[in-house]
Amino acid sequence: MTDYGLIIAKMTSGHFNQDTDSSNEWRDESGTVVYPRSYSVHEGTGLIMVKRDGTRYLLAAGMGALADALEGETVSDSAGKLCPLSTANRLAVNRFFPYTAPRAFGTGIATIGLGDRLGIASPGHIRVVRGKEIRPILAQQSIRELNLTGRDYNEVLNAACFAAFQEGYRDGFGADGDHLKAEADIRMALDLGFTMITLDCSEQIDNQAAGLSAAELQERYKALSPEIRKYYENAYLNKTYAVAGTEIRYSETSLAQNILIYGKAIDYMIHVYQTYIRGAGREIDFEISIDETLTPTAPESHFFVAQELYSRGVKIFSMAPRFCGEFQKGIDYIGDIGQFEDELKFHAAIADHFGYKLSVHSGSDKFSVFPLVGTHTRGRFHLKTAGTNWLEAMRVIAAHNPGLYRKMHAHARSHFAEATAYYHVKADLDRVKDLDSVSDKELPEYLRDDDARQMLHITYGILLQAKDGNGKPLFKDEFYRTLDEYEQEYMEALKSHIGKHLDLLGK
Ligand code: ZN
Repeated sequence: MTDYGLIIAKMTSGHFNQDTDSSNEWRDESGTVVYPRSYSVHEGTGLIMVKRDGTRYLLAAGMGALADALEGETVSDSAGKLCPLSTANRLAVNRFFPYTAPRAFGTGIATIGLGDRLGIASPGHIRVVRGKEIRPILAQQSIRELNLTGRDYNEVLNAACFAAFQEGYRDGFGADGDHLKAEADIRMALDLGFTMITLDCSEQIDNQAAGLSAAELQERYKALSPEIRKYYENAYLNKTYAVAGTEIRYSETSLAQNILIYGKAIDYMIHVYQTYIRGAGREIDFEISIDETLTPTAPESHFFVAQELYSRGVKIFSMAPRFCGEFQKGIDYIGDIGQFEDELKFHAAIADHFGYKLSVHSGSDKFSVFPLVGTHTRGRFHLKTAGTNWLEAMRVIAAHNPGLYRKMHAHARSHFAEATAYYHVKADLDRVKDLDSVSDKELPEYLRDDDARQMLHITYGILLQAKDGNGKPLFKDEFYRTLDEYEQEYMEALKSHIGKHLDLLGK
């Protein structure tokens, strides 16, 4: 039975000091891991993150308001208290150490969404962004991701907040309710303390209106109420908007098209803003996503949506248009870079014109366009990545637990078709090398292969939720155990992979 006496004694004698370069963990003789950077003090009570047998705890030294507020058991003859990483303790830590609570950032600084499906990637993400002119949105999950991983928003927040505590990261981080569509989900996310809402308007965007014949378009346009038509016609016809050194004009046809495609979505954005964002009682980073559409967002359409929002009193943090080309999961940009750059300039200038940030979704691994994004947004952007930290986890598994990697790879391969119901990818499994022909040493090479990357990328939910005949997880437990054992390697892998994103973005 371990006593935490030695660690508590070191805490009270001032051994763990924020100022020393104590980035690496420290182990006592019993094998308990201490994260020195976490050490924080409130009115004489010290608090530090420890890990024992793969489970993390908060260890408080000394009694007082902080220790009283935490649930847990007293240890070491009541000299300390060992506290689980529960939601109640997260809320207490948020209260006593506000840097551990998510916050909004507004539009003045670049931000990067680093959604963590596993709940263990945030310490590595923090090490990537620390000291840079960019802030991380550590908690960022869509409802789809929650369903596929069996997690909820409290767990997502707990993981992010405790990671900020563990790393002693005081520069702030955000929490994004990503791609939310339903009002109930928006309310839930805000009630839990999320600081960013990404409103997904794909259900209100009428893609079909984009492909109508002139006659059909006229017919549908005439079916709108006269008031609505009049409002838009007065606002847009015979007007010229100067943006990005060029002029935007709307013809009767292009105006009718934009109204039919985006009119309902704009009404919904305004409704959500007025109902949930404006009166939230705190700052919320409100992002509008119009990226889940069939066709790229024309710059004129982007401008139209923004102009409507701003003229009706809505202020936003960022907007995510759908760019030309393809932003597929886990691989580089596919498409015409020249055309992308031309449109990006326009989109970035529109965002600048209104004062919000351009948001780039599915931003993992888009190395060939990052320098353009950094340049044309003049460093003021929001980039969303997700899932790429799961691939880095698989790289660690491939390198350190080849047996488990082989089982997961084979399972992903045989269940790939199911995953394509949720994610659109171009992966061709016929091009993925047969497992039997690959030696253990070469397994990490799969993570350099686009087809294998995509196969693994989209099957995360299937792999993590796979059960054997007795209902026990097939891979999940061993997967987490391995990543815990190779915690430093995982951090290094994230640092190098996400670090490359930031380098190319100019951060
Ligand atoms: Zn998106």
